[in-house]
Amino acid sequence: MYDLAFDEKKCLACPDPVCLARCRYMSIGQEEARQEILKIARGENSFVLRDCVTCYACEEYCPMGNHPLFLIAERQEASGLAPVPDPLIRRAVNLGVPFRGEPVVEEAGGDVINMAAFSELSCLVQGKLFEGMPLISDDGRKMFHYFCQLMYLHYARTSVIKERLPGVIATIMKHKPARVVCFHDECYGAYSSYCPSVGIEVPFTPVHFYEFLYERLLELKEMIRPIGSRVAYQRPCSSRLSPDKHRYVGEIFRLIGAREVEREFTGENALCCAGTIQGQKRPGSRKRAVELQRKNVEDMKRAGAEICVFNCPACFQTLSGLVAREGIRPVHMSDLCRVAIGERPKGWEAIE
Ligand code: SF4
Ligand code: SF4
Repeated sequence: MYDLAFDEKKCLACPDPVCLARCRYMSIGQEEARQEILKIARGENSFVLRDCVTCYACEEYCPMGNHPLFLIAERQEASGLAPVPDPLIRRAVNLGVPFRGEPVVEEAGGDVINMAAFSELSCLVQGKLFEGMPLISDDGRKMFHYFCQLMYLHYARTSVIKERLPGVIATIMKHKPARVVCFHDECYGAYSSYCPSVGIEVPFTPVHFYEFLYERLLELKEMIRPIGSRVAYQRPCSSRLSPDKHRYVGEIFRLIGAREVEREFTGENALCCAGTIQGQKRPGSRKRAVELQRKNVEDMKRAGAEICVFNCPACFQTLSGLVAREGIRPVHMSDLCRVAIGERPKGWEAIE
């Protein structure tokens, strides 16, 4: 079995125990934060296990790389304190089971794009930016063979992640990829952060989707015509697992001439889409989610955004209608980049 390498000594020596102190869902001082996370590490009860909404932010806040959220999710499972109701957990766990036989495996001979559970969104990886890149997989019936399973952090089911993820990695390896570009940054977080934290070996090089996009845009720089529009970025929870890659958002916007608006809820202070929170069992969760979404969209509007740029398909599903109702166009980052090089992504003509 794989064990989380959470190091209590790091907490004891931590110069800045902000993990829980910066949590926007609980009110807690720095020293109390240290004591509560230590209690959780020692298997003791803590109100944090009940109050955590699994927004992932403390993974970014911890200055010692000590994975407080991974620890909380493990202890929520061990204590039967999952934030989500049991029927939703059962449904979600069944959803991610690979089925309909084994995928057809072709050797890549180079880099691949891992679509994970989003094969049906292969329209988002078309055109010059993605030329010559094989997709694993473009077959929606086989996509769960490539699903990184990290979603189960939200369901307090790290046991499911640990059980399935090595098989997913083995399937990816059958393609003999040079590098694996992760379409969803949750997958990148799984391979670059979660796997090392529990000792699951990752024999390939994961690449963040935005790093890849940035590299390709540089190669196609001559084709770029500045977008000029004012854009807001919807940072997803999973981006907290790879904060070192978040800088590519600004780099890409600068390269394609998109003007990022100044917002309150940006960077480390970003609000998640609240899609997870609205399904949680704590009384008032739905109201809380609606309030977070309202604050988030109002912030974009106040800042003068014309376009809301999405990374995560789940955020898109949760928030795109709300931003569109406020006159802000929801767009995936890859589509925005395609527009910058003179392409017209699917559906773009209809809304121009
Ligand atoms: S989890 Fe991180 S931030 Fe929190 S006390 Fe431990 S080392 Fe410090
Ligand atoms: S994951 Fe989010 S809600 Fe949970 S403790 Fe960390 S910062 Fe707070």
